[in-house]
Amino acid sequence: MAYDKDNVFAKILRGDIPSAFIYEDDYAVAFKDIHPKAATHVLVVPKNAYTDLNDFMLNADADEVYAVMQDVRKVAQQLDIIDAGYRVVVNVGAGAGQEVPHLHFHILSNKES
Ligand code: AMP
Repeated sequence: MAYDKDNVFAKILRGDIPSAFIYEDDYAVAFKDIHPKAATHVLVVPKNAYTDLNDFMLNADADEVYAVMQDVRKVAQQLDIIDAGYRVVVNVGAGAGQEVPHLHFHILSNKES
């Protein structure tokens, strides 16, 4: 699937749609999900244009994969949900419920942050 540069997360990353980043580094940003499905629901969104996890694993280099996965952990640490526990969910493909065709990691916890 070709990357759609007008998807909502591409617009957020470009600054076309305002969003409050709770975390940002060279590789990814994180912001609260607009329709939270848990007490804490944050999205970690890589800055580069990957449609989904398959695209990422086939095309990102190892340094980028490592950095983005560290970002998921860093954001969980920043949210102070490591001890409470949390889920990391990645929907891959419309058939699995992926609505936004830009790779993102859902971080969900029953603990408020
Ligand atoms: P998925 O179904 O895995 O593609 O998840 C997309 C997620 O993005 C959903 O949980 C939406 O609530 C969330 N979402 C969509 N638009 C925005 C937005 N502008 N800001 C924050 N979250 C959003």
